[in-house]
Amino acid sequence: MMTDVKSPLLHINEQIKSHCERVGRDPHSVQLLAVSKTRTADELAKLADQGQRHFGENYLQEALAKIAALRGRGLVWHFIGPIQSNKTRDIAAHFDWVHSVDRLKVARRLSEQRPPESAPLNLCIQVNVDDEASKSGVALAGVAELAAAVDALPNIRLRGLMAIPRADNDDGNRAAFRQLAMTLSQLRNTMPALDTLSMGMSADYPVAIEEGATVIRLGTALFGPRPPKA
Ligand SMILES: *Cc1c(COP(=O)(O)O)cnc(C)c1O
Repeated sequence: MMTDVKSPLLHINEQIKSHCERVGRDPHSVQLLAVSKTRTADELAKLADQGQRHFGENYLQEALAKIAALRGRGLVWHFIGPIQSNKTRDIAAHFDWVHSVDRLKVARRLSEQRPPESAPLNLCIQVNVDDEASKSGVALAGVAELAAAVDALPNIRLRGLMAIPRADNDDGNRAAFRQLAMTLSQLRNTMPALDTLSMGMSADYPVAIEEGATVIRLGTALFGPRPPKA
């Protein structure tokens, strides 16, 4: 057993702190989202025992089982995967955040289906910063219009923007992150309450922090490599 080796969570939290200090940011301005797709409830529980509260899931059925298994621990659940319209009811009922909204129809359904006794659903708009036809996310040119429409919906609290830049940008995705940050800053002229930039994964999160990320989404850096999908 390697019980005396520093845990990945502790290591990452130290990294966040030092990257923040290097660029003069408050370490508390960056929230670590543990991306737990394909991980078991037991693996999540171990991280929760070490103090991790925010978990991000991509697949609804898998997520619902873990949310049920870990109920009562005060965890905060973020949906970060592609959203089909027929999944919105369960997402609206069981999650605290959704990062991956890229069309108004989905936002409307989440708004209508959010249970009245729940707090407003925190929502980020996913932006296709590389303008790749193959990936989800609204094009940069469409962000302002979508944001204004989403912001007007009841039971929704629009928080900001999310992006998954292509993995092979040779600048560590810096230009893509900067573009997303600039887009948020423009939106804040009319929607000053927006406060969230969800960007940066295991391979590029230090650059994302430098460029202003407020939520970084880490999977493999916390849990190790994911098993290949069957
Ligand atoms: C899987 C995933 C992550 C985490 O990726 P890692 O490279 O394992 O850190 C982050 N964001 C989204 C949207 C993901 O699907």
